[in-house]
Amino acid sequence: MNDPHPPETIARRPIAVPPHPVWPSLSAPEKGALKQRIKALLRQQNAVLVAHYYTDGDLQELAEESGGCVADSLEMARFGSEQEASTLIVCGVRFMGETAKILNPEKRVLMPDLNATCSLDEGCPADEFIRFCDQHPEHTVVVYANTSAQVKARSDWVVTSGIALSIVRHLAQRGEKILWAPDRHLGHYVQSVTGAEMLFWDGSCVVHEEFKSVALERVRRLHPEAAVLVHPESPREVIAQADVVGSTTALINAVTRMENKEFIVATDGGIFHKMRQMAPHKRLIEAPTIGEGATCQSCAHCPWMGMNSLHNLLQLLERGDNEIEIDPAIRERAVLPIQRMLDFAREQGIGMKDKGNA
Ligand code: SF4
Repeated sequence: MNDPHPPETIARRPIAVPPHPVWPSLSAPEKGALKQRIKALLRQQNAVLVAHYYTDGDLQELAEESGGCVADSLEMARFGSEQEASTLIVCGVRFMGETAKILNPEKRVLMPDLNATCSLDEGCPADEFIRFCDQHPEHTVVVYANTSAQVKARSDWVVTSGIALSIVRHLAQRGEKILWAPDRHLGHYVQSVTGAEMLFWDGSCVVHEEFKSVALERVRRLHPEAAVLVHPESPREVIAQADVVGSTTALINAVTRMENKEFIVATDGGIFHKMRQMAPHKRLIEAPTIGEGATCQSCAHCPWMGMNSLHNLLQLLERGDNEIEIDPAIRERAVLPIQRMLDFAREQGIGMKDKGNA
């Protein structure tokens, strides 16, 4: 059957992907001492640690042990808003720090490495994106959370992967045409489910794009009882094989909720730490990234998330630099589409805690 709304796209941008950082290994006593030092500095500085599911397991544990949280990016920002702490330390990538700052302008927001970015954010420069939007004034602009503050400031709605379907369906029912950015795989998935008329920015996640559908079929044959969990930033041929398509939080929930003993997981490998904590008796299998056309980036771990470690977290607390700054005029505009999403979630009774994003 012909697609009633064939996707339109714009040209793709090359992304410079950094090598994976290599951090000094630590003995158990060294690691314990480092964590104690960091916890003491967090207390002294009235700071709270919020870490993403894709970061190193040591950071995730430290965040929880020290009264912070491990979550998806939206929940990280919401958690930050609920804290009395005057400083938020965001272990993740830059757009997460920016979102935390947009929602918490009165707090200091620091990150271990301000160069920790995201291929979706990098592939959607604000000036080009604004021109693209200006060329399509009849479209409602919906952007994924993985974008800069400037891009959010030009949007009508910000969405996470967990709430994207509900919001786009709502807009489509109102007869609105949608300009979607930046992840084309997620956009095509949303369009396939909602039937919305959509125009796409051509961005992708360098981690999820490497999951290979033919190799996945082979792994599924080897593990016929395994449920396949896929993040919707993955290619459509991979999504087509999924038992569950969802956000990081939704995939973690699936491992605990489903009765299967084995799961093939197509998202960043950092998520396995939380999945193992939540369901220690279940077998987790990485979805394959090695196949025809695969590159040396094919390791299912985000190089920018890897820029967060106990080492540079300690340096950050000792130096107090790496603060996220956002132009107040940009912040004032960017908070509106984020708030619109939060209001929609509340009105629709959508549990954002279970509907996180990348
Ligand atoms: S895993 Fe992909 S979407 Fe997430 S921060 Fe890395 S590049 Fe961006």
